[in-house]
Amino acid sequence: MDNIKNRVLELTKILNEANYNYYVKDDPTITDQEYDKYLRELEELESKYPEFSYDDSPTKRVGGEVIDSFSKVNHVIPMMSLSDVFSESEVVNFDEKIRKEGFDPQYVCELKIDGLSVSLLYRDGKLVRAATRGDGVVGEDITHNVKTIKSVPLTLNEKIDIEVRGEIYMSKKSLEKVNAERLKNGEKPLQNARNGAAGSIRQLDSKIAAKRGLDVWIYHLPNPLDYGIHTHYEALEFMKKLGFKVNPNNRLVRGIGEVLSFIDEMGEKRDSLPYDIDGVVIKVNNIDMQTAIGYTAKYPKWATAYKFPALEVLTRLNDIIFTVGRTGQITPNAVLDPVIVQGSTISRATLHNENYVKEKDLKIGDIVSIRKAGDVIPEVVEVKKDRRTGDEKEFTMITNCPICDSVLQKKDGQVDYFCLNEECPTRKIESLIHFASRDAMNIDGLGDKIMEDFFNFGFIKSIPDIYLLQSHREDLQRLEGYGEKSITKLLESIENSKHNSLEKLLFGFGIPQIGSKTAKLLASYFHNIDNLINAKFEDLNTINDIGNIIAKSIVDFFSDSYNLDVIDRLKKFGVNMEYLGKKVVLDESFSGKTFVLTGTLNDFKREEAKEIIESRGGKTSGSVSKKTDVVLAGADPGSKYDKAVELGITIWSEEDFKNHLN
Ligand code: NAD
Repeated sequence: MDNIKNRVLELTKILNEANYNYYVKDDPTITDQEYDKYLRELEELESKYPEFSYDDSPTKRVGGEVIDSFSKVNHVIPMMSLSDVFSESEVVNFDEKIRKEGFDPQYVCELKIDGLSVSLLYRDGKLVRAATRGDGVVGEDITHNVKTIKSVPLTLNEKIDIEVRGEIYMSKKSLEKVNAERLKNGEKPLQNARNGAAGSIRQLDSKIAAKRGLDVWIYHLPNPLDYGIHTHYEALEFMKKLGFKVNPNNRLVRGIGEVLSFIDEMGEKRDSLPYDIDGVVIKVNNIDMQTAIGYTAKYPKWATAYKFPALEVLTRLNDIIFTVGRTGQITPNAVLDPVIVQGSTISRATLHNENYVKEKDLKIGDIVSIRKAGDVIPEVVEVKKDRRTGDEKEFTMITNCPICDSVLQKKDGQVDYFCLNEECPTRKIESLIHFASRDAMNIDGLGDKIMEDFFNFGFIKSIPDIYLLQSHREDLQRLEGYGEKSITKLLESIENSKHNSLEKLLFGFGIPQIGSKTAKLLASYFHNIDNLINAKFEDLNTINDIGNIIAKSIVDFFSDSYNLDVIDRLKKFGVNMEYLGKKVVLDESFSGKTFVLTGTLNDFKREEAKEIIESRGGKTSGSVSKKTDVVLAGADPGSKYDKAVELGITIWSEEDFKNHLN
């Protein structure tokens, strides 16, 4: 329990400090994502352990404090914050909660402008006061600065007493301009538009705000009923008519489906908007319904903010560990404090090799930014060196395999280290996993974890053992976590893999340098595994896209008696060794020609000769007729030879055939 209490206190301290730097100094020291992560953690701990939920917790207070140098303003109707959600399912939950209370709401969807909120007070249609949110109840009087914002009307279209609220922001263009100027003057650039706006609006000298090109969007009427208005959407229209700048993207929707579409649409539009938004705000439209749904101490329960996923997130590099791949390649991997990046939790990222770690100057304990490369694989982008405390540990590359302890080696001119021990268990497991993987033999149900188990239990030590699993059916069913159904499915999937086309098997062998594309090329060229086994270096080397290194790798693989033995055993189990795809036409030299084969050829089996003819665009037929173009005659030709002579058809010896191939 003590450790829970300590964590609550620690999080409170982190968040209070962050609030001070963000709201008072306008100079945040952690990112919004880090802040949100800590806040969520604290909220979760407080709801699980209410005894540690204190009244002055940052989860219960609207962030922001009031600086003494400004006159204070009391907000008669408090300026609240918004609850936030980070995924579509949480948006759906928000709607379900409201529906469970018996409401059937319409919503207004709005952009969540990344600036700072402001309250504007008008008497007789004239601006008399502008105030910050402050702690929600007491704000700061910033009228002098707000008057410099051209889009804030000083006089309204109607002589009316009214308070409206909205967001002061700095456009992307203004930020660029201000930062270019600051760099020219040797000043530190502003971190982002939000801080640029907040930092200038809370200055005593209004010249600073005037220079920053600030702007405003108005989105809230605190007391609509006073004007006979019963929905939020009408309030927006009303404020627009009075002369306020109301965002044109606001949309009245019914049903959560339309809310989700709005989120998608705005997510796409986000980059092209001239100002920063960090999400979408969803508000119940009907004012009576809003009142009935109510408020917490910090935010209305009738609205929520969906925050867009961050593309790049900061987290801590806790350790660097090493993994061994099927080729023995050693990869350093970042062990990270788990963070959500674009909807998925990331706790590992590849660091590729020693050079990569050194180039990025990564140290254990560093704060690093990470993103999903190509939206899938997480990568470490950079180290935040200004966040170093001095306690970070230097990275050192290992010298021995973390699994079998054999000394690692670097291949000539390569940056990667390898474990060359063929018996290294991890290398073996990784090769087996690769063999069963989707692009290889596609054996459903034989994924990483199961393969590792079966290897450790001794059921699968080498590739052919996969096809012997059938004989262990009962043992397997007795294993914990593997029922009869899943084993039956797995065995079926193994049985099906026997009918794969040759390229899947070739790729599955994990021959160095042979990816799935080269495997396909080889399979379609050689048609079956025996042709490939018999292929010489020169045969391979002449094929387009097969260079010296690949050709050597193939010859080496098929000269290894262990590999040949594996192939033999697989053949006995009935694993297909033929190419089943479309035959590739290598060239068109026999195009349009019909061949008839007769007699015995010395260097080709009849099937092989047929495949060679077809691979060059020719056709083969069983009988000689006037339509036959060439009769290929081996030793002891039969009646087909006589018929060809009779019809005057071209006859090739095996020698002629070879000459034509060359
Ligand atoms: P918030 O920014 O998450 O949401 C509430 C605010 O959204 C409102 O007060 C209003 O100003 C604004 N808003 C923009 N468009 C709106 C619209 N259309 N309708 C209604 N409101 C709209 O909440 P917050 O309490 O202002 O700030 C908390 C957030 O600020 C945190 O979640 C974090 O992202 C950031 N923060 C960061 C740090 C840091 O150190 N990096 C510290 C404190 C807060």
